Amino acid sequence: MTHIITSPCIGTKDQACTEVCPVECIYDAGEMYLIHPDECIDCGACVPACPVSAIFPEEDVPAGEESFIPRNYEFFGT
Ligand code: SF4
Ligand code: SF4
Repeated sequence: MTHIITSPCIGTKDQACTEVCPVECIYDAGEMYLIHPDECIDCGACVPACPVSAIFPEEDVPAGEESFIPRNYEFFGT
């Protein structure tokens, strides 16, 4: 289990989440940020920090945003 960053991050990328993550597992992935699924401890601190509500627990990713689940995993080769 991990947290997943979805489409509203694209074009926003303000790094608010990276400032609150206690394990620094949120990485610059070009057009957006992505969360390393093996490093994330599911603390949830990043969720309210995101000004565009782009971050969800994996099981709560909204309809239409599911493609960001494999995108988060594949970027880190997991
Ligand atoms: S849930 Fe916690 S550990 Fe995971 S990315 Fe967000 S702040 Fe970091
Ligand atoms: S706080 Fe939200 S918009 Fe900002 S970098 Fe993190 S996921 Fe992207």
